[in-house]
Amino acid sequence: MNDSSRSESRILELRQTINEYNYQYYVLDDPSVPDAQYDRLFNELLELEKAHPHLVTDDSPSQKVGAAPLSSFSQVQHEVPMLSLDNAFDEESLLAFEKRLHDRLKEDTELTFSCEPKLDGLAVSILYEKGKLVRAATRGDGRVGENITANVRTIANIPLSLRGSDWPERIEVRGEVFMPRSGFIKLNESQKKHGAKVFANPRNAAAGSLRQLDSRITAKRPLQFYAYSLGVVLPDSYSLPEFHSQRLRLLGEWGLPLCPEIGTATGATGCLQYYHQILKSREKLPYDIDGVVFKVDKITLQHTLGFVSRAPRWAIAQKFPAQEEITTLHDVEFQV
Ligand code: NAD
Repeated sequence: MNDSSRSESRILELRQTINEYNYQYYVLDDPSVPDAQYDRLFNELLELEKAHPHLVTDDSPSQKVGAAPLSSFSQVQHEVPMLSLDNAFDEESLLAFEKRLHDRLKEDTELTFSCEPKLDGLAVSILYEKGKLVRAATRGDGRVGENITANVRTIANIPLSLRGSDWPERIEVRGEVFMPRSGFIKLNESQKKHGAKVFANPRNAAAGSLRQLDSRITAKRPLQFYAYSLGVVLPDSYSLPEFHSQRLRLLGEWGLPLCPEIGTATGATGCLQYYHQILKSREKLPYDIDGVVFKVDKITLQHTLGFVSRAPRWAIAQKFPAQEEITTLHDVEFQV
């Protein structure tokens, strides 16, 4: 077998394995391998496809977000796609990200970034019309999600009505639903006592709790929400602040909960300082995070940079070392 056909058969093997892991993680909320192992295989696929671009196909997991929604929920078509994020696992990848931004923008001046913990839960879209919560959906495959309005309405820190009165007629708030660690531990203790399914980690407990057909079950689960971006905003003439970080503050004024650790930084150097500061306080945070996210703060630059198939060019997730995720998953395997 020559090098090219060896790569091709490895690509096919990786796609099949990753598709199976995606199904277990996104559809069944029941991962069979630790995230670090998944990430290794996913990166191997990305590298091989980069080296052999003619082998990239539309149905490769490298081109897709999440998984198709479960048919037991009604479907919601996202007006603005809900994408994933590119990952950086080391400082060099972050510096390369900054260089790509400068090259594409043909800009030498240092860029400002919104810096946000990467909450380990699941992405949710919440639509407000005339200040009232009218619909909520999961990300699904990025284009079509599951209608989980009844469940989202049970989450205590999500406002059913926005504060104030100067909000746009129609505004889609995006953010992460997650389960704080203390709630996760209590939930698993109670599940064990009742002989019910024990969750692998807070992320899967949050996903399993939110995608319930009976919202009374969701209501009993200790879920929380932090907003981190906007989707559709109407009318088009509504004037929003020009920086992402200012838009987040505005959401805060309207009563939407924001992660207290969010900040801004200048250049990759500032981002790395933020990364180390959050990494140091990771254990003290009441919720799980698997890294930090850096987003070009100026919205017009975000628009210039645009998207690739599954992720925006203007953002990157800098992942933390994955030691604990392995421990968590193994702990559960021993407990079950
Ligand atoms: P991702 O988790 O790497 O990044 C995108 C997601 O980050 C968004 O959808 C959002 O939910 C979340 N997020 C958290 N904080 C955010 C913030 N401040 N701003 C923007 N987004 C924020 O991508 P993904 O496509 O959701 O999942 C891929 C990851 O999931 C993999 O890297 C892997 O770790 C895990 N995974 C694991 C398995 C497994 O079998 N163990 C299978 C599939 C995926």
